[in-house]
Order: sequence, then C-alpha cells, then structure tokens
Amino acid sequence: MTLTPTRDELIQSRNFIGGQWCEGADGRSFDVVDPADDSLIVQVVDSSAADAKAAVDAASAAFPAWRDTPARQRAQLLKRWHALIIANQEDLARLISREQGKPLAEGRGEVLYAASYVEWFAEEAVRAYGDLIPAPVGGRRMSVVKEPVGVVAAVTPWNFPAAMIARKIAPALAAGCTVVCKPAEDTPLTSLALVRLAEEAGLPAGTLNIVTASRESTPAVVGQWLEDRRVRKITFTGSTPVGKHLARESAATLKKLSLELGGNAPFIVFEDADLDAAVEGLMAGKFRNGGQTCVSPNRVFVHDAVHDAFVARLAERMSKLTVGPATRPDALIGPMINARAVEKILRHIQDALDKGARLVLGSTRGLAPLGRNFVSPALITGATTDMALAHEETFGPVVPVFRFGSEAEVVEIANATPYGLAAYFYTRDIDRVERVAAALESGIVAINEGAFASEAAPFGGIKDSGYGREGSRYGLDEYMHTKYLCQGNL
Ligand code: NAD
Repeated sequence: MTLTPTRDELIQSRNFIGGQWCEGADGRSFDVVDPADDSLIVQVVDSSAADAKAAVDAASAAFPAWRDTPARQRAQLLKRWHALIIANQEDLARLISREQGKPLAEGRGEVLYAASYVEWFAEEAVRAYGDLIPAPVGGRRMSVVKEPVGVVAAVTPWNFPAAMIARKIAPALAAGCTVVCKPAEDTPLTSLALVRLAEEAGLPAGTLNIVTASRESTPAVVGQWLEDRRVRKITFTGSTPVGKHLARESAATLKKLSLELGGNAPFIVFEDADLDAAVEGLMAGKFRNGGQTCVSPNRVFVHDAVHDAFVARLAERMSKLTVGPATRPDALIGPMINARAVEKILRHIQDALDKGARLVLGSTRGLAPLGRNFVSPALITGATTDMALAHEETFGPVVPVFRFGSEAEVVEIANATPYGLAAYFYTRDIDRVERVAAALESGIVAINEGAFASEAAPFGGIKDSGYGREGSRYGLDEYMHTKYLCQGNL
C-alpha cells in the first residue's frame, strides 16, 4: 500500500502568499518526517517574521474586495473547493496518513469530515442575517448587521491536519474575512495541499495565505501576527499553555480570539448502562487517531456494580486492536506523532503502576520492532486521582479505569479538572440523563454516544479548554462583528 499522492502538485513545500508559491525570505527550510519510521518526506519553508508580515500584507490588501464579494459568489467558490477536496480524497488521505501516521481508512474519513465543514459554511455564507429591532422610542429605526472582522490568523495542531484547518478557514472565508494560516510543524503537507486545491477552485489572490514554520521559528511568525493591528482575529487549536500565551500576547491589540484547547474528558458508565453500547462507545471515542484527540475519553469511571463485567468486555475488544504503520491494511492504531508523545504515554503508565494500578493489557515499553513511535494499547484498572493520567491529557491509546459508588461522587470527580471540553456518560435512566448532563462542566456532553463530532454542531470547550465554537451556525459568528445601526429623523 503506498502513501504517495498520485498528483505531484499536491505535494507543496513552499509558502502561498498573495496568490504565489514562494520561498521564505531567509531561504531556510525544515524536515517533515514520516512518524512510522522517522524518514524524511520533504523539506518545507521555515518562515520568519518577514514572511508572516508579507502574508498579512496580502490578506489585508485582498480584504475589501473579498468582503464586498456577494455572499452567493463566496459560497460558490467554497463549493468548488469542497468538490475538489472530495475529488482528491484519496491523495489527501495518503498525505494525512504519511505525515501524521493514522491508518488510511481514518485518513479518508478525516478528508470527508474536513470537507463537510467547507460545504456547511458554503451554505451558511448566505445566511449571515442581521436583525430589525422594534424601537422603544418613536422616530428611529434600529437594526443590526453582521460584518466580517477582517484578517484572520489561524494556527492549528498536528492531530487532524485537514479537519483542524478546514473548520477555521471555511467559516472565515464564508464570513468575508481573509486568512493567514500556519499549520503544525509536524504536519504541514496536508494543509499546503488543501490551499493548493483552494487555488485551483479560483479563490482570489491574497484571500487565503499559508506559511509554514519549524517549532523554533513559530513564536516569531505567530508573534508577528499577534502584534500586527491588521490581524483582527486569532483562531487557535492546540495546547492550553500556548492558548493562554496567545490570549496574553494579543491583549495589546485586543483581537477577537477562539481557543480550542486541551481536554481531560470523563467517560462515565453508570450501573444501569447498556454495557455493550458503552464498550463500543468507548472504543469509538478512545481509539480514533490512536487516542490522540482532544475529546478522547481520558478518565473512565465505572460503577462498582458493573466494573468487572465492563473491564472484561473492554479487554476482549481491546485485545483485537492491531498496531502498525498506515501502510498496513489491517492497522487500527498507527504510530504516535513523535518520540516526545511516546515518552509522555509511557510515563503515565509507569506512574500509575508505581502508585498501585494494575496493567490488564499493554506494556510500559514501546513496540521497538515496529519503530520507536509505536505503543501498545493499554488498559489500566485501579486508577486513582493522585496519578498523572487523572490530571494530564495522556493523548495516546491508554484507558485508565476508576471505580465509583454514587452519582454525586462521580460527578464531583469528573468536574475536578481545570478542563471542560467533552464528557461522556452511559445510563438508561431518563431522569439521570437530565441531571448529569446539567451537572457536567463541559462544552460538549455525549450521552449514550461515543462519536459526536459533526459540522452541524458547535464544537468547543469551557474553563481551561478555551472558548469559541467551530461548526454550526455559531461557528460563523466567531468571524463576524455585530454592528448596531441607529437611524433617526425618519
Ligand atoms: P501545541 O499547542 O504545541 O501546538 C499547536 C500549534 O501552536 C502548532 O501550530 C504550533 O506550532 C503552535 N505553537 C507552538 N508554540 C507556539 C508559540 N509559542 N506561539 C505560537 N504558536 C505556537 O499543541 P499540539 O501538541 O500541536 O497539539 C496537541 C494539543 O492540541 C492537545 O492539547 C490537544 O488537546 C489540543 N487539541 C485541541 C483540539 C480542540 O478542538 N479543542 C483539537 C485538537 C487538538
């Protein structure tokens, strides 16, 4: 099975600024590697602050014309982009799997998921309605219009190289904003290919610009956008510390912000749950992308009465998970993104064992014969709240099971985290559904369901998981101002 795209032009290694593919001002580059074997795929531009500024110059120059382009026309361009993404699904999936490591079937699924946001926001572009307000006093006409905020800077993580960037670019363009973006240093190729397809769709020059940067150069590139007054919005997905840094640093120019940050999702199995459904839900939610998702169940709480039965069924299902490179058709879990990620996962497992947990499945070591970035799925019982995996996002295929005795107790522990992105629970008691859904401090609550992501729903968190929503009609508002018009002398 090959992971090389059939169309050469989908492997881009340069920046795209003002409608031109260009080298960086400093002439530097950095390596993009395959996480399955650390082999070099290609070198891409290592941008500097000068490249970041050039991108904003282009986006800023393109903004007035794009803002004034009729919504229907913007929508048509987005629809053309959507059609090209679908037409190139296989090539994009290969790029995703090559640079990020997920099995090819998941790569294909991610392309469709990314495309669904482009289609959704093409449809929403023509529905950015305002309001007419009945005036409380006579002789006035009071109305509200929505306007695009201006130039948007998008910074994205590596775990979903197509979806994370599509769900920022599509609503921004639909709203009438122009965009500068910087994909994660581990996975820039998919984003570059998406921009290539946007060019092919006929987006006007300067409307969408992309620069790539190594981990070392990223602070200078993003720092340039933070201090540039012309950038009116930062939309970021990534870790909580970097999100907080962006919030602090954008204060001087008071930009609008959307921050989709880390999570520490609880997954609660009550005594009255359908256990088979709960096991399937956990498998779907936990092992997508090898556990490297921000909404991945990180802490699994199982009621005493069903603990042993649940663990036995879960162990049976997990024992069938095949680990291997994305080129292996039967691989269900690919490599982790890099050695740092592997080190954190193994540290969490070891820490849990040191504090008295039991390893039912898995290992405290990697899977060296496959390569240094592979780990076995791990099932841990006897997890307690003093363990690192109770507080930090493990971001890997590790399931720690905690026991609980009462609803009040488990809700309290589930909420005892600074994060609040996703929460899951399984029960057949309708009163409990309402009570627990209301009590969980989380931007998303999944009830008797393990896979909830949809372009039609608002995705985002509360507390240290950030603010702002992606997808749905709420997703468009993030890229618009609300302007109040008060007209007198009628
Ligand atoms: P990260 O914060 O290290 O990197 C994210 C992006 O920020 C990358 O493009 C990176 O280059 C950039 N960045 C890094 N340091 C920066 C700095 N000093 N200034 C400006 N930009 C900087 O996160 P990651 O390791 O790539 O991604 C994993 C994290 O993302 C996890 O915590 C995960 O939960 C989170 N995530 C959240 C969501 C969500 O929707 N809430 C989705 C996916 C991932």
